[in-house]
Amino acid sequence: MRDKTKLKDRCEEIVTCTGGWHRRQCNNKGKVVVEGKTYCGVHNPIRLAKKREEKEAEWDLKRERMNEQADRRQVMYAYFEGVSTEEIKNLLRQKRG
Ligand SMILES: [Zn+2]
Repeated sequence: MRDKTKLKDRCEEIVTCTGGWHRRQCNNKGKVVVEGKTYCGVHNPIRLAKKREEKEAEWDLKRERMNEQADRRQVMYAYFEGVSTEEIKNLLRQKRG
């Protein structure tokens, strides 16, 4: 019987294989040690955390933009209250000349 203990120079992350029912240790070569665990470049938790932060920042920006657009729509709705869509379209057409 072969020794099945984890190789220290290999990434210790447990990954799910294609299909999703089989779990195994990542095959990549270990690059960094974080809190006593070895990780490859892909599973480096510091890198993943950074990526997640970037994604969150991206989402915050998107959310901000969406809020801004929602605000704008509200203001426009308030401004054009009682004015029909046709009238607004006509106004826009006049503006463009
Ligand atoms: Zn890995």
